[in-house]
Amino acid sequence: MKRNLIATLVGMMVCGAFSAHAAGVTDAMIANDAKAPNNVLSWGMGTQGQRFSPLTQINTQTVGKLVPAWSFSFGGEKQRGQESQPLIYNGKMFVTGSYSRIYAVDMKTGTKLWKYEHRLPDGIMPCCDVVNRGAALYDNLVIFGTLDAQLIALDQDTGKIVWKEKVDDYAAGYSMSAAPLIANGLLLTGVSGGEFGVVGRVEARNPRTGQLVWSRPMIEGHMGYKYDKDGKATENGVTGTVNKSWPGDLWKTGGGATWLGGTYDPTTKLAYFGTGNPAPWNSHLRPGDNLYSASTVALDVDTGKIKWSYQTTPHDGWDYDGVNEFVTFDMDGKRMGGKADRNGFFYVIDAKDGKLENAFPFVKKITWASGIDLKTGRPNYIESGRPGDPTKGEEGKKGATVFAAPAFLGAKNQMPMAYSPQTKLFYVPANEWGMDIWNEPVSYKKGGAFLGAGFTIHPLNEDYIGAMRAIDPKTGKIVWEVKNGAPLWGGVMTTAGGLVFYGTPEGFLKAVDAKTGKELWKFQTGSGVVAPPVTWKDGDTQYVAVTSGWGGAVPLWGGEVAKKVNFLEQGGSVWVFKLSSK
Ligand code: CA
Repeated sequence: MKRNLIATLVGMMVCGAFSAHAAGVTDAMIANDAKAPNNVLSWGMGTQGQRFSPLTQINTQTVGKLVPAWSFSFGGEKQRGQESQPLIYNGKMFVTGSYSRIYAVDMKTGTKLWKYEHRLPDGIMPCCDVVNRGAALYDNLVIFGTLDAQLIALDQDTGKIVWKEKVDDYAAGYSMSAAPLIANGLLLTGVSGGEFGVVGRVEARNPRTGQLVWSRPMIEGHMGYKYDKDGKATENGVTGTVNKSWPGDLWKTGGGATWLGGTYDPTTKLAYFGTGNPAPWNSHLRPGDNLYSASTVALDVDTGKIKWSYQTTPHDGWDYDGVNEFVTFDMDGKRMGGKADRNGFFYVIDAKDGKLENAFPFVKKITWASGIDLKTGRPNYIESGRPGDPTKGEEGKKGATVFAAPAFLGAKNQMPMAYSPQTKLFYVPANEWGMDIWNEPVSYKKGGAFLGAGFTIHPLNEDYIGAMRAIDPKTGKIVWEVKNGAPLWGGVMTTAGGLVFYGTPEGFLKAVDAKTGKELWKFQTGSGVVAPPVTWKDGDTQYVAVTSGWGGAVPLWGGEVAKKVNFLEQGGSVWVFKLSSK
């Protein structure tokens, strides 16, 4: 009897320990995320970032019956932009909020399970609102970056801190807003702060402990390192070339912030990170291409070495950050990557070697280049489109003002696009706007804005700024578009049910036909949607979720456009939908 009891207890303990471990998120699960619709384990609904779901219960025929299942408020007095993509695992939703908050919510009922609210110091310097775009899951951990440039790993069940690492100095302008990426067993992160002269980099860590494995700065001149198990830089792990394409000392504060994080393709074993503007914005201070700013950089995840890079805006003079997500897909039997750049051009690039395959405009007005030379891969600059040199002094201390399109907030910004292998189209949330921009003298001061430029953003059209566009990567044709009054700032999701979901600052989550753009359903969430939707299936039921809460860069930096949309109200909640049983 007694022996039986002990045996049972031991059995329970072993079983308990085993099941707790077996329930953790594995590398195999993350690699299969895009195809396994019961979970959403990564930003991008799969590390490739296609944001395509194979689910079909909610489809063009049934979507009209989509109704709210529950809504959860982030609470408190802190609202502002909610750009977070929720993750779904083990019956829980993990969703981040503004001001470095994260919540675990019961996936079926919307009941709060725990909340972690990061204590932020005074003096954080997020350039573009106090946003966070989401977390990463690994084993029993949920990991996210904070506005004071720390990484926090919490226990998925309790919300207790398991490890915490300082990534960099927030007082120098570093912050973190992107969702971390898990690639081949490593935790990959970037940094934000390109408007303060930080140096962008990609870091790989052990996701279980937070220990650094390698680090690769994105501004050439700085060295990258591999680290041993004691955290010491190893001699043979050094990468980089001093001063490459950066004459003088400006590379020391050269920008290239990796603020939107990256994607990973398990077939190429490469992680793709976009890099932001070279610093300062005033391009006359830094002759040359300014590697690797405003680029897509493909990194070998084992070594941190740069396998290839492609610079979308060499010698950027308009803050056309090249951070936008590189989404890999199959085209004519080859693995390609698509990227809708802030500079107005859509690029199709060989994911293995970085060779440019196609490049075409996805907005109607582009003033800085007349096109992209497919042979050399370089833009054909329109020299008069570059704001003038302040040392030439046409306007006192200011350089000559030019009108430039797109505006620096971009033909597309942080809001991720989607790709459907079913329609073979990209769905791109684009914006049509321009700016007056001029250069000014500037010198670097730690923690100060490092721009050397002034600007005012203007709408280009009376009736719309945003345009949801279906784009054929082979032909460069816009197959359909849906115009939107306010600039689009949320992401996109597409499904095998023939649908495209996206949100608007006016508060709607919309579902349109993936083939035609015809609106089939919409729901008013109560505040602006500036985040990407997700979908998953639990038992027999398909769910759709999106966070709601107007904010982000537009109200802060948008000039005339910000005035035009200042009627929009803030918020902070996540909505979940399913089909009505009636
Ligand atoms: Ca920037």
